[in-house]
Amino acid sequence: MSQFQEKSIIITGAAMGLGLAAAKELAARGANLVLVDYNQASLTKAQQEIAAQTPAARLVTVVADVSQEAAVKHYVDEAVKAFGRIDGLYNNAGIEGKQASIVDYDIDVFKKVIDINLMGVYYGLRYVLPVMQAQQYGRIVNVASVGGIRGVLNQMPYVASKHAVSGMTKNAALEYGRYGIITNAIAPGAILTPMVAGAFKQVNPADPKQAETEYAQRNPTKRLGLPEEVARVVAFLLSDEASYLNGQTIAIDGGESNMY
Ligand code: NAD
Repeated sequence: MSQFQEKSIIITGAAMGLGLAAAKELAARGANLVLVDYNQASLTKAQQEIAAQTPAARLVTVVADVSQEAAVKHYVDEAVKAFGRIDGLYNNAGIEGKQASIVDYDIDVFKKVIDINLMGVYYGLRYVLPVMQAQQYGRIVNVASVGGIRGVLNQMPYVASKHAVSGMTKNAALEYGRYGIITNAIAPGAILTPMVAGAFKQVNPADPKQAETEYAQRNPTKRLGLPEEVARVVAFLLSDEASYLNGQTIAIDGGESNMY
């Protein structure tokens, strides 16, 4: 029997990168999925890719911007309508923002990063937790970052938002553990996704590949991570097996954040 048979899981930012890799992994393990993204064209493409890989998967797509409270309420309502319950939430959608020093940072971009990365995760918790409380069961994985554990040069709003994700994870664990709801966060290092490709373009517009190679040298494993490697950890955290691991922020970074 499949690990996630009869389980329904919402994934935000499901159209590409970490969200899409987790969607493929969870579909292959038998989950029913609600795929949420604000990029309609990429979301449709993602749905087709997942269906091609796992034809039996039950997939629902919802176009929503997670920084809009009403849109989050809508994707939660659609999930309940489609599957009758919500077993898991992968609260993953996020953006990096522009890289700039603290005093030069564009205030509108700063606010946008906070609206998506912090408020988007909060709205997800706000609307999913009551559904899980009524079920007396739930698994939540919020996506922080190594930037939620440490500082990252020229990325202050990103770092602020991801530290907040780690904090909200602790509070959700404290306040909802009694209802059978387990909440954790992941802190990926540099994982090869479109977002990270964009970051290397900002660091070295003329030769992003060179920036990537240099960056990989700092890592104990001498390489960047793959979205599939993150997806397997996420699948564990969303499973019944993660029953007493609560409120943690787990680095998935090849060990890099241990370095002084
Ligand atoms: P990505 O840019 O490759 O994919 C992100 C997806 O989220 C896209 O499909 C995008 O359309 C969607 N999205 C963005 N903002 C949205 C919004 N407001 N509403 C709905 N959908 C939205 O990024 P990724 O690398 O897969 O990152 C996913 C998450 O992982 C982010 O929260 C990111 O901060 C975090 N993260 C990534 C890395 C990494 O190395 N890739 C490292 C640490 C943390």
